[in-house]
Amino acid sequence: MKYYSLNHSSKKASFKKAVINGIATDKGLYFPEEVIPLSKEFIQNISEYSNEEIAFKVIKQFVGDEIPQAHLKEIIRKAISFDFPVVKIDENVGSLELFHGPTMAFKDVGASFMSQCLSYFNQANKEEITVLVATSGDTGGAVANGFLKATGVNVVILYPSGKVSEIQEKQLTTLGHNITALEVDGVFDDCQDMVKSAFLDPEIHRKLTSANSINVARWLPQMFYFFFAYKQVYKDFKEVVFSVPSGNFGNICAGLMAQKIGLPIKHFIASTNVNDTVPRYLATGSYQPKPSKATISNAMDVGNPSNFIRILELFDNELSLLKKTFSSYSFTDIETKDIMKKIQSDLNYIADPHGATGYLGLQEYGLQNNEMGIFFETAHPVKFLDTVEDTLSIKLQIPPQIKKVLNEKKTSIKISNYKELKDFLNC
Ligand SMILES: *Cc1c(COP(=O)(O)O)cnc(C)c1O
Repeated sequence: MKYYSLNHSSKKASFKKAVINGIATDKGLYFPEEVIPLSKEFIQNISEYSNEEIAFKVIKQFVGDEIPQAHLKEIIRKAISFDFPVVKIDENVGSLELFHGPTMAFKDVGASFMSQCLSYFNQANKEEITVLVATSGDTGGAVANGFLKATGVNVVILYPSGKVSEIQEKQLTTLGHNITALEVDGVFDDCQDMVKSAFLDPEIHRKLTSANSINVARWLPQMFYFFFAYKQVYKDFKEVVFSVPSGNFGNICAGLMAQKIGLPIKHFIASTNVNDTVPRYLATGSYQPKPSKATISNAMDVGNPSNFIRILELFDNELSLLKKTFSSYSFTDIETKDIMKKIQSDLNYIADPHGATGYLGLQEYGLQNNEMGIFFETAHPVKFLDTVEDTLSIKLQIPPQIKKVLNEKKTSIKISNYKELKDFLNC
């Protein structure tokens, strides 16, 4: 598979090159050149396949022969070694729980898949690769865990001091080995700016790459979720509708790619908090990014979603075409808290603020009788402990994998400006 840049002024890249570079030299996102739909027989009989077999069929054409099949199967096996249940919470509504992985957020799959690809491609190189990533919470933990002990790869995570939850901080500061946490005296935007400066700085002597959903090896494995969910419900319902809590729009963009390669999905809903750049775009036809506002669903506090350009590409930049299969709605924190309470009292289910936003999206869309609505529960409620406990007046049980990190000792290096980051990277 070849990938072209969405800025159209750099050369096409192999999968390997796209993974190692992260972003094209003209700063465009990589996009697969041509995709071949999966066979109808496969889709019709999907329940007869294991998750590992499905994932292999789905991702194979995107990797091509650049990773030997047996090794690709091994990468998949490790990346999806847990459950992806659709929990039915109402007559025709299900919660796809994507939080059964090691850090309890959906980013675990992409982070593990990408780290294993990067290790494979870099194994013959003497030079180590440094993955540099800024996090506002969940990305850091998933990337740290996914890349832990990966050969030939160092990970440097920048996070804003005092601005991530205790659990999130522990998840990225306690692993050691090839993972270093830099605790930045500032906010998330400062971390992000420093990372950008480092990528553009010719005086940095390390080979750097990024591990956010811009990278095709983190973005594309997210297609698996839609297939795994479809497999569990397609025999009982005629049509399937997905609602995806969206921030950078990587997850939902993977869903649209799943549809492109043949998964018969009726409709997609991108549910957002008050960071509503995409819902406003659909309503007005004018794309006007805004600085992000802080909300209780903080993993979606994104004012300029990086993957939206890929969604437009999938629909040949035709807004009317996109609107036929894709809607996007925005919700306030108050609406989110109210629905969390309602889901608890009426349906006996605990949703985190992100999943609850997804549920609101299904409500706003208005499901028909023959439709099954599935919202993504993108993180375990315990990751947003204070909000969930306060809103629902409950005490959550801390799962074992979280308890374990809470008992570990935090190690971080404090930095307060770009020069300190540069000195760290060059030493
Ligand atoms: C990252 C994240 C999202 C947003 O996903 P995108 O692919 O950036 O749209 C939603 N919920 C949680 C819990 C997340 O960590």
